[in-house]
Amino acid sequence: MSKVRSAVLTAPNTALGPGPEFDTIRSLVDRLGSRATGIGDDAAILRVPRGDVLVASVDALIERRHFERAWIEPREIGFRATSAAMSDLAAMGAWPLGTLVALGIPESWRGVLGEITDGIAEALVAADSFALGGNMSAASELSITTTVLGHTFRPMQRSGASAGDSLYVTGVLGGPTRAIAAWKRGEVPEQWHRERFARPCPRLAEARWLAAHGATSAIDISDGLVADLGHLAAANGLVAEIELDRVPVIDGATPADAVQGGEEYELIIAGPRELSVGEFESTFGLRLTRIGDLRAGPPEVRVTWRGSRVDVPGGFNHVTA
Ligand SMILES: [Mg+2]
Repeated sequence: MSKVRSAVLTAPNTALGPGPEFDTIRSLVDRLGSRATGIGDDAAILRVPRGDVLVASVDALIERRHFERAWIEPREIGFRATSAAMSDLAAMGAWPLGTLVALGIPESWRGVLGEITDGIAEALVAADSFALGGNMSAASELSITTTVLGHTFRPMQRSGASAGDSLYVTGVLGGPTRAIAAWKRGEVPEQWHRERFARPCPRLAEARWLAAHGATSAIDISDGLVADLGHLAAANGLVAEIELDRVPVIDGATPADAVQGGEEYELIIAGPRELSVGEFESTFGLRLTRIGDLRAGPPEVRVTWRGSRVDVPGGFNHVTA
């Protein structure tokens, strides 16, 4: 455990009393290993570094709404739920403190609860975060509701951008959309598309680097590049103008997949034109692409393709939405 972590976390786990429900919780806490901390009291106690603000967000992953059981493994479901929630902390430029997990478990999923928990633990390790507590109840469909808590001295607020800022996006887009489309056709998606859906990477360290290098505003892509840019444009009262030709598209996907598909968990960043893309890419081994600019004007997204304005409908999202 690093120095920063021991400064912000509080207590060891508290012993729980007897009973089958608590036996289940004990086994899940065991599976989380050193990633479970401060569990067992009525509530978790957190110490936020002096001068920082607490950043909080909640996200739900629900069977048949966001995924189908046949698509991904239980371990991947746990990983994905935790990582997707953590992505909102990345969008604020925050350090993760810990998570609270509320599980709705149908009888048919009880046998793989341990594997789901292993996936949660894996995502907590990847993000250097911890499970601080949770809740379990019976349910008719699997749901994993993850509350994430983080801290930062200066959050990257969505409304923090100015006219003249450039717009950047991390990674390459379109993978989750291709994977979902393949599954819906009853096909097996390409491995690299499937991976982008099953194992999203919250860009936490990347976002903190960008914040430290002048980024003014950020949003993570959950609903699709165009839809989420629409939120950023609205928050700042500005026009977001992007060139579709510049948008980084994953191998085997189309530009439309890349700008309309959700579930990416990459970041859109507003920041200075001089942002050092090369330094970012060599530090993180991840693409950072300047795709456009913010300009004065009525809040909307304008997309051009080879210099001409094109109409791109906003993002679609989720399996049955
Ligand atoms: Mg978000």
